[in-house]
Amino acid sequence: MKFVDEFRDQALAMGLAAAIAREAVPARRYSIMEFCGGHTHAIFRYGVHDLMPENVGFVHGPGCPVCVLPIGRIDNALELAEEHGVILCSYGDMLRVPASKRRSLLKAKAEGADVRMVYSVDDALRIARGNPSREVVFFAIGFETTTPPTAVALRTAKAEGLKNFSVFCNHVLTPAALNHLLTAAGLDVDAFIGPSHVSSVIGSRPYEYFTETFHRPVVIAGFEPLDVMQAALMAIRQLNEGRAEVENQYIRVVTRDGNRKARTIVDEVFERREGFEWRGLGAVPDSALRIRDSYAAFDAEKRFSIVTRSAPDAKSCECAEILRGAKKPVDCKLFGKGCTPDSPVGSCMVSSEGACAAYWTYGRFR
Ligand code: SF4
Repeated sequence: MKFVDEFRDQALAMGLAAAIAREAVPARRYSIMEFCGGHTHAIFRYGVHDLMPENVGFVHGPGCPVCVLPIGRIDNALELAEEHGVILCSYGDMLRVPASKRRSLLKAKAEGADVRMVYSVDDALRIARGNPSREVVFFAIGFETTTPPTAVALRTAKAEGLKNFSVFCNHVLTPAALNHLLTAAGLDVDAFIGPSHVSSVIGSRPYEYFTETFHRPVVIAGFEPLDVMQAALMAIRQLNEGRAEVENQYIRVVTRDGNRKARTIVDEVFERREGFEWRGLGAVPDSALRIRDSYAAFDAEKRFSIVTRSAPDAKSCECAEILRGAKKPVDCKLFGKGCTPDSPVGSCMVSSEGACAAYWTYGRFR
């Protein structure tokens, strides 16, 4: 298949592995953070980790939207479903993430709450149109990739005069998280593999601030194994040559300015919000979006007077440290014991982009 098979070619992978082994200077270590959970899964699914020399290591970042949502916001979603009696529409992964007291949306559904798994915000709109006597709330999560569809849905709902549809907005922003990791969280890595889908929207330009300010190379990469390996090689070359630049390995999709039309729609519907809390990072300045007043009628937080309270992660769960790049899943004493995908304790074991789920699924136990 075009753009898939050619990026999984074994001979090319071995060639890239040989180039990395040749160019990685034995006397130094290369610590490369892949921001996005999609990259983490590609690294383990295709054994990329095992093709790296000893001195080249990947650090897993916070780019998993399900993982970074704090427990307080999942408690809010439960409140909407159980106390306000809405039809709550959510992506599948969110249903299984434990909230306070290890409750989850899936448990609430089993106990009678009307929680529905959807594949897109369009499904939620359809449910709202088909149930005019019920309030329908879309549990919106995600980075810049999933924000434009939510914005379009809000515009559609407004244009149609849909009275029973609203959005519980939890959209977050990649550059703010990166900035927080490099400043407040004190992350110590040599280079970044930048997210691919996010960058298709925001472009490569926003990362220039990081290369100029923090002197860390950023290589935007696709999600196939050869993408990740080529990005690692490009980062190693930059480090060897003392460069810190934004390079774009994912030229088949990403441009410097991204998708301007999508960004314009997002700006029309959303604005920055202060003090949004991330799991593992705490309150990160300017790191999330809220619905503008001109769309207030479709803002579930306003419609149902939602107040978010911080809640602690489960005891012994190391998701916070993993999301900050400070620990690996196998450092958690619950990994594979008290916490598995069938019985997750933290969000990183639930999500299809979570680091703990990647380690478990692809059998990495050390
Ligand atoms: Fe949290 Fe489970 Fe991962 Fe441990 S293994 S950090 S408990 S999700």
